Amino acid sequence: MSKKITHTDIIVVGAGIAGIASAYYLKKKRAKSRFFILEALDSFGGTWYTHKYPGVRSDSDLFTFGYSFKSWNDAPIATASEILKYIGETIKENNIQNNIKYNHKVLKADWSNSEKKWTLMVEHSTKKQILYFSCNFLQMCQGYYRQNQGYIPNWKNIENFDGKFIHTEEWPNKLNYSNKKIIVIGSGATAATTIPVLAKKAKHVTMLQRTPTFYRTSTIGTEEIANTLRNITDDSEWIHKIVREQILINQEIFIKRCVEEPEKVRLELLEEIRNVLGEQFDIEKHFSPSYRPWQQRIALTPDAELFKSIANQDVSVVTDEIESFNKNGILLKSGEELSADIIIAATGFNMSILGDIEFSIDKKFINLSDTITYRGMMFTSIPNLIWTFGYFRQAWTLRAEMIANFMIKLINHMDFIDAKKITVKLRKKDQNMKILPWIREEEFNPGYLSRALEKMPKSGSNIEWVHNQNYWYEKDIIPNIDLNSEEFIYE
Ligand SMILES: Cc1cc2nc3c(=O)[nH]c(=O)nc-3n(C[C@H](O)[C@H](O)[C@H](O)COP(=O)(O)OP(=O)(O)OC[C@H]3O[C@@H](n4cnc5c(N)ncnc54)[C@H](O)[C@@H]3O)c2cc1C
Repeated sequence: MSKKITHTDIIVVGAGIAGIASAYYLKKKRAKSRFFILEALDSFGGTWYTHKYPGVRSDSDLFTFGYSFKSWNDAPIATASEILKYIGETIKENNIQNNIKYNHKVLKADWSNSEKKWTLMVEHSTKKQILYFSCNFLQMCQGYYRQNQGYIPNWKNIENFDGKFIHTEEWPNKLNYSNKKIIVIGSGATAATTIPVLAKKAKHVTMLQRTPTFYRTSTIGTEEIANTLRNITDDSEWIHKIVREQILINQEIFIKRCVEEPEKVRLELLEEIRNVLGEQFDIEKHFSPSYRPWQQRIALTPDAELFKSIANQDVSVVTDEIESFNKNGILLKSGEELSADIIIAATGFNMSILGDIEFSIDKKFINLSDTITYRGMMFTSIPNLIWTFGYFRQAWTLRAEMIANFMIKLINHMDFIDAKKITVKLRKKDQNMKILPWIREEEFNPGYLSRALEKMPKSGSNIEWVHNQNYWYEKDIIPNIDLNSEEFIYE
């Protein structure tokens, strides 16, 4: 008996903030296309649905992390539940709910060159059934890490610890941490978010870091601009647009300064901390990273809340390496011992490349690391597929919206020239270009990326084959790509 296959024009994988942006644009600009979103979880929101650790919030302001088409009317930094509400409203206002199929986890995707379509093998997670879908075009909005599965370094003797050990990605439903001694391992965005919240109830929190992180203590005037405009008008769309533009200008200036005068920016960032912790605190040791500002994302601690909890002695910072775990806590390489009731690992992600889906063409398996990315949106030899991978250092969604629009322009163009298949291919002038890792580690090098780099697609030294992470460059380039260029092969 042949298997039942449900066909549609476009399938979007993932109902996170990126997948919903795509759905919005498909409804607005490509009304004649039928589409589904296949989502592995039982609800929308992705990151904002799965993360449950205390205090979970955005690091970006919502004027830029929120959509260009839906105004944000609250404080710039938002909690996970506020972001979920915003995404939920977008779904409702644009009638996207019937396009989403929840509990549908895509396992395999096979492109058929004869039929010019993708067939997807999908696991229905509650019915425990395998279903099949096919589509002419596939958009991957799968995010970049495995949900609910954090990265734990290879520490010795974790099992010897008598207390509770938790990863922030896998936060238990109920955890009583009132009056407990807590160690949080890590000092990135997640640690900076949760530590001040934990410290309100805990007996004491120790932030244990191997190396320091850079922090900002404000969203560079965002709140002030928004409030000033709100005093002038109640036109929320206009306010959203103006604040968004102003933030993008402020960020551009800041990022340029990080490249042009990194030492000056470093001193400014450290000065913000010194203002709270005073001259006696060893800021150099605990808060001055070895990398340049923006070589890794700068974590936000709004209103300097992390430093205030250190100043109040609710939190202490230890910069050292873990030798091993023991019954009471952690033994450090320096010989110092830290004891705790609860140890929390805020040590980041495991990358998920294209949603851990097994891709094949005519049933022949594709190794992604054998492909080269076209501007971080497509891959050589993989037809009719768009990859949504946002910005790390600016709001992710700025790029997600740009890519959704690019995909629609591409599909419109294919209609116009009556093409059923699009593949990107190296041009003659690309044959001798240098093949490079997907992203240059000297530019951006967080641990989760470095760990996965060899499995990622490659990039090239010619600009079309670079996955650029610069919004200010791409905002003028991507919308104006010439779809008749030599690298696009249509059939
Ligand atoms: C705690 C936290 C805070 C963050 N804060 C910010 C911030 O302030 N600013 C910023 O720019 N970025 C931030 N990020 C990065 C953040 O993940 C992205 O910005 C953004 O939310 C990603 O949206 P997305 O829709 O692309 O992916 P996700 O939110 O990861 O959603 C992807 C969806 O795809 C689904 N999916 C994946 N694989 C499959 C499959 N095989 N089949 C079916 N469905 C699948 C997943 O279940 C998920 O629902 C943060 C990340 C974390 C973890």
